[in-house]
Amino acid sequence: MMRTRNLEASRRFSERREREDHAPRLVAEVPDLEVLDLVLAERRADAERADTSHTRRIVIAAAPAYFQSNCSDTNCLDGGYEYTRQIMQPLRERSTRFEGEHTCLGNVGNRTCGRILHFIATARFRDR
Ligand SMILES: [Zn+2]
Repeated sequence: MMRTRNLEASRRFSERREREDHAPRLVAEVPDLEVLDLVLAERRADAERADTSHTRRIVIAAAPAYFQSNCSDTNCLDGGYEYTRQIMQPLRERSTRFEGEHTCLGNVGNRTCGRILHFIATARFRDR
């Protein structure tokens, strides 16, 4: 069981790498972007408060235009959050602060995980 799960995890990891590698670069998509910080907080579907939270400063020069986070429920299979569109669209419109949510559709036992990732993005752009 453990072994299967490890194989699964490594398969998912390489798939993700593949998607990141093939995604366009963030600088190519949003050339004026200077700084992008994401505050990422997760909560259970039935909880009001987040149980994990961290800030991610995106390294603009190296980042792909692809945004995803892992689900932090260790029992969640095939879960995770992919919110590329929710980030890229406001960035193209030069929004300096925006937020959104994404629900994990992985499986925990025989039900859907349903954890919710809430992100707050803060961006800075070069003057045109
Ligand atoms: Zn999950």
